[in-house]
Amino acid sequence: MSKTTPANVKLTLYGKPIELEFSTPTEKVTPVAMLPTLHRINNTFVETAVAVFVADHETISCQAGCGACCRQVVPLAEFEAYQIASVVEQLPEPRRSAVKQRFADACEKLDAIQWLSRLERMLEQGTNHEVVEAHALSYFQQGVPCPFLEAESCSIHPVRPLACREYLVTSPAEHCQNPTPEHVRHIELKFQVSKIVRKLWRTSHIKDLDSVPMIYALQWVKKHPNQFPKKRGQDWLREFFDYMANP
Ligand code: SF4
Repeated sequence: MSKTTPANVKLTLYGKPIELEFSTPTEKVTPVAMLPTLHRINNTFVETAVAVFVADHETISCQAGCGACCRQVVPLAEFEAYQIASVVEQLPEPRRSAVKQRFADACEKLDAIQWLSRLERMLEQGTNHEVVEAHALSYFQQGVPCPFLEAESCSIHPVRPLACREYLVTSPAEHCQNPTPEHVRHIELKFQVSKIVRKLWRTSHIKDLDSVPMIYALQWVKKHPNQFPKKRGQDWLREFFDYMANP
């Protein structure tokens, strides 16, 4: 069993004092091994934000069994792509093959409209934000469900990506059928762990795009071996909180 080192972090979020206690890997690891810790941090940030919104009489519309948002592009941090590929590889057969087929079918559908290459071109050319957002919406319009969506529920809920954990709406659930900024009201998170790590931890594999769209994760991992440096868990954690304080 790998050794862990305890870590303790105190911070104030939405005016509330928060204390986080972790066990971080003692040995040097890539950020993939930090995901259980990042999931815990993310869950605490989201739960604190939800408590504030509910106290302000806003209701969260998201419920188990509603997978409307699981047809949008899910931006994975580069190192999350390796985790997602490993989650798929660990599935028992015949589920593993079925999930891999769903990834392949989703890529084929998006490739038919050259969705990814058009996005990469836009980012390379510095296309304005509204046009890029409209392009992201065109992904949703293809009606491609996430390969992990089963019976409108997330089949990998405990290990789902950071971005999925942060997506909560207060607008009526039916508005998510047309997820434009005018229709959908999100919970405003003060700190989005998914965005912080996408900016902070990336390698030269990632250029203009700061993330790997979920459905391309398996293809992407095959072409790009993990080249992250290895550091002790407490050093990754220090970097994370330092960046959070001074982005
Ligand atoms: S990983 Fe789960 S929560 Fe995220 S988009 Fe897929 S099904 Fe939905």
